[in-house]
Amino acid sequence: MSQWRTVIGLEVHAELETESKMFSPCPVVDSVMTEPNAAVDPLSLGMPGTLPVINVQAIEYGIMVGLALNCEIPPINQFARKNYFYPDLPKGYQISQYDRPLAINGFVNIELEDGSSKRIHIRRAHMEEDTGKLTHVLSGSLVDYNRAGVPLLEIVSEPDITSAAEAEAYARKLRSILRYLGVNSGDMSKGILRFEANVSVMRENDTAYRERTEIKNLNSIRNMVKAIEYEAQRQIRLYQRGDTVKPATLGWDEAAQKITVQRYKERADEYRYFPEPDLPIVEVSREWVRDIEASLPELPDALRRRFIQELGLSPYDAGVLTAERSVAEYFQDIVAAGIDAKLAANWITGELFRVMNANGIEREDIADIPISASDLAGLLSLVENGTINQSTARKQVLGDMWDSGKAAESIVEEQGLAQISDLALIEASVDKVLRANDDLVQRFLAGNDKVINAIFGRIMAELRGKGDPSIVRRILPEKLESMRE
Ligand code: ADP
Ligand code: MG
Repeated sequence: MSQWRTVIGLEVHAELETESKMFSPCPVVDSVMTEPNAAVDPLSLGMPGTLPVINVQAIEYGIMVGLALNCEIPPINQFARKNYFYPDLPKGYQISQYDRPLAINGFVNIELEDGSSKRIHIRRAHMEEDTGKLTHVLSGSLVDYNRAGVPLLEIVSEPDITSAAEAEAYARKLRSILRYLGVNSGDMSKGILRFEANVSVMRENDTAYRERTEIKNLNSIRNMVKAIEYEAQRQIRLYQRGDTVKPATLGWDEAAQKITVQRYKERADEYRYFPEPDLPIVEVSREWVRDIEASLPELPDALRRRFIQELGLSPYDAGVLTAERSVAEYFQDIVAAGIDAKLAANWITGELFRVMNANGIEREDIADIPISASDLAGLLSLVENGTINQSTARKQVLGDMWDSGKAAESIVEEQGLAQISDLALIEASVDKVLRANDDLVQRFLAGNDKVINAIFGRIMAELRGKGDPSIVRRILPEKLESMRE
């Protein structure tokens, strides 16, 4: 029997963080911090007689995203009315785009666990306005129109994604690009970035796609991964017992960790799209596109390639360091201060991320931690010039820098942590430890090579962790060999 394969297409809604809404001067506000319905105007409320005006900044942000996703930007795009009746949309229709979207035929490259990469094609990206937010309570539903009319870019992928892991890599790459561009914070918990996953399964020898379902309300990438895995298994089970998969809109119940059916789609939704009569066609001159393209920042893929080629980083480290623009900048500041790139990469992805993690700080907030890039460069230069060894830097200095905000140099001086490189002093310690541990010495001489690590550890302890490990490693075997009769 042939294997089942998962097929996924993602629809991504990204709010574009402009100052005002898509079609009116009404301000865009933080949905969590602002009281409901504080940022509304006649247009967001769909009052009769109001007329929309296109927010050019939103169009420009949309084009930035389109270009960053390697899309074609057609010379004309056009808004269309998408008709549906639901309380989150007081007008009775949403202004969206239909057959003339802002961007088409793009792609995103994703890197997979095994080191390979894959191209996920993007069908289209179109502009629309966000809807209001409904909160269901016992006595009914509450509606908040602060979000109504916020510029929204919908990015639709081809069904090129074939596993939950690929969906995760795609989602993270897209989020990273949006954050690099500075047009979207990527905050899924606030709904600023939202993913919907279309999922179907197929057999290796199927010649056509099978029926798909659509999972909505995914409030984190982790939940999206779990929901896709769960849904693919559910569909396979249905087919295996001779059932069919019915088109449906699904949700992910985080508490129960399972898929819930929101509604079955008996027939395709009928939105009766037609060109928005209150808005002109948007003409996008080639000059405008070129200007926007020239203003784009260096994006994660290009930066990653440069870190590999110019700085000799491993593809893995380069990927970790470029996922967030702030991390890439932090790393680059340290390299600019003259620190070896690989040493800097190891320290950021290892020790620094560990300390940040222990303090509950996200990687993207690296610019705000108590240890600035120049502070860490100071610590690493002490390692590079041999003032302290890596273990002292890691175990004693880094934590103190975090807690006290002091420079590495003053911590090393105040606590007398400078490395002992004095040959005579190290030799004396080696001799002392060898005399005190004759049992270990005898085991080494009897052929148990591994014992040398235990002896090394005792010597480092004798030197209170400050001995230059390279000197100890050189002297110790010599001394031991000379003890053979
Ligand atoms: P609609 O216009 O009804 O939303 P589309 O064909 O535009 O449908 O597809 C919407 C999304 O569903 C796209 O992201 C697409 O990649 C994805 N998709 C289409 N067919 C499948 C399938 N068989 N399995 C999984 N995803 C699919
Ligand atoms: Mg759709």
